[in-house]
Amino acid sequence: MSDSTTQPAKLDFIREIIADDLATGKHATVITRFPPEPNGYLHIGHAKSICLNFGIARENAAVGAKCHLRFDDTNPEKEESEYVESIKADVKWLGFDWGDDLYFASDYFTFFYNCAVHLISAGKAYVEQQSAEEMRANRGNLTTPGTPSPFRDRPAEESLDLLARMKAGEFKEGDCVLRAKIDLASPNMNLRDPVLYRIMHARHHNTGDAWCIYPLYDFAHPLEDALEHITHSLCTLEFENHRPLYDWFIENCPVPSKPRQIEFARLNLTYTVMSKRKLLQLVQEGHVSGWNDPRLPTISGLRRRGYPPEAVVHFCKRVGITKFSGTTDVALLEFDVRDFLNHSAPRRMAVLDPLKVVLENWSAEPIASVEVANHPQNPEMGNRDIPISNKVWIEREDFMEVPEKKFFRLGPDRYVRLKGGHIIRCTGFEKDTDGAITLIRAEILPGTIGADSPEGVVCKAAIHWVDVATGVDAEVRIYDRLFSVEDPDAAEGGFLSVINPDSLKTLAAKIEPALAAADAGFSCQFDRTGYFIADAIDHQPGVKPVFNRTVALKDSWVKKGGR
Ligand code: ATP
Ligand code: MG
Repeated sequence: MSDSTTQPAKLDFIREIIADDLATGKHATVITRFPPEPNGYLHIGHAKSICLNFGIARENAAVGAKCHLRFDDTNPEKEESEYVESIKADVKWLGFDWGDDLYFASDYFTFFYNCAVHLISAGKAYVEQQSAEEMRANRGNLTTPGTPSPFRDRPAEESLDLLARMKAGEFKEGDCVLRAKIDLASPNMNLRDPVLYRIMHARHHNTGDAWCIYPLYDFAHPLEDALEHITHSLCTLEFENHRPLYDWFIENCPVPSKPRQIEFARLNLTYTVMSKRKLLQLVQEGHVSGWNDPRLPTISGLRRRGYPPEAVVHFCKRVGITKFSGTTDVALLEFDVRDFLNHSAPRRMAVLDPLKVVLENWSAEPIASVEVANHPQNPEMGNRDIPISNKVWIEREDFMEVPEKKFFRLGPDRYVRLKGGHIIRCTGFEKDTDGAITLIRAEILPGTIGADSPEGVVCKAAIHWVDVATGVDAEVRIYDRLFSVEDPDAAEGGFLSVINPDSLKTLAAKIEPALAAADAGFSCQFDRTGYFIADAIDHQPGVKPVFNRTVALKDSWVKKGGR
């Protein structure tokens, strides 16, 4: 990476609080958690939270700090085991490890229930039997306090009995809920007797049919944190208004520790939607090929696209942790990906829009070979031999019938170097009836491999190429941004109306033979065109090569007027 990641950076406000708590002895160690709800695949916003929580644990390993991976699986309706597995894989891919600290909130159902009983017994919760509409109507608004429910002051015994019967399945969904008794006049609406439990006759992926009442997030989350002795519970800004409620549960329930909630700004990216609901819609309605579609901001999509985990982590670090919400330019992420791959990716040759060149004076072996460096700045990556014969593919755009000024590649009677090979001179070309060029004729200048241009020969460019005899057909998928506007969430016709129709173009390319044999997941630069990865799903080495474009060599969006 171009900037130094080893220098001690200025601490963000959360790391400052933690450093302070350790220095003053408020805490002897730090325990954070990453608490995804297994109702979808993780996206790059989650990566920010993962890097923060697991990062803090890693940085404080000397005092035994840890980060728990906790599945917040308290809602039976939207959760699936498939998501649990994908989330684990994504956290690992980013380079983090929860060790033995893998938890499921659903394992705490009995504890939540006991806390509810405790609150009722202490006169701090009651079973509500008004309808949802009545509750809403009686909640008041910012200027009017709420109206007490007729059930608010029912005896604790009655509520305890009703809660037990709710749990036993005697009621239908919506018949009753359990509410905390806090403050109906509070300017913070979250404190106006929030709901703690609701009835849901739904099967849970972990507890099966054992429960038919399920706790709400605001009630369950602080209890989960406290049970696990989380010291700092880090969440996004939308929970700031929920903090008084978080603290109320910690104060009023029989919990073994007192975690502290701290909020930070979530990550938003231009040209991207990040809401799980919208990502689910894109997947379910077939706008993309699945959760791991390379155009999605999901971690599995980024992985399949060829984004290196190091670049994603570096990006999260660079965005930083603040209290100010904003939107980060997706070009910054693409820059980090490009920067990382520039150093790490070997170079290969592939022609994306092939035009055949016949080398008419070819007199060497039918198939010879040239030696090419695998990386221009890194000799440790070695060289490779690429076969060459009397016909090669070049990019269509590397030939101009009437060359423009400053066009230094091939044109009639012009010279260009075949990268790693000879200088060639164009001696002619053929066209079809529509005027499209179908073939180039050329001659090689003998003795020019690895040598300067001979006297009188102007050769200012080297172009990539693929041998016709040994080159292999490949499907190359050129991915671009999924949305054509900067803020798809704000689009008048909704985010689906601004899907970029050109976000995927499939090309029939020619690739050098070694590339065709590469394993799925092999990542490299195609000389002069971009960074590519052999697709994890569809690429079959030697049989059917499929490559995804990770990112172009340069940011082309400014040029295209996309921004
Ligand atoms: P949902 O709407 O389903 O709750 P969510 O994005 O909050 O979606 P969770 O699975 O609850 O999903 O998120 C797990 C953790 O990741 C939470 O701590 C959440 O605050 C954090 N997180 C989610 N989105 C972002 C984001 N864009 N930036 C930073 N952190 C995020
Ligand atoms: Mg959430």
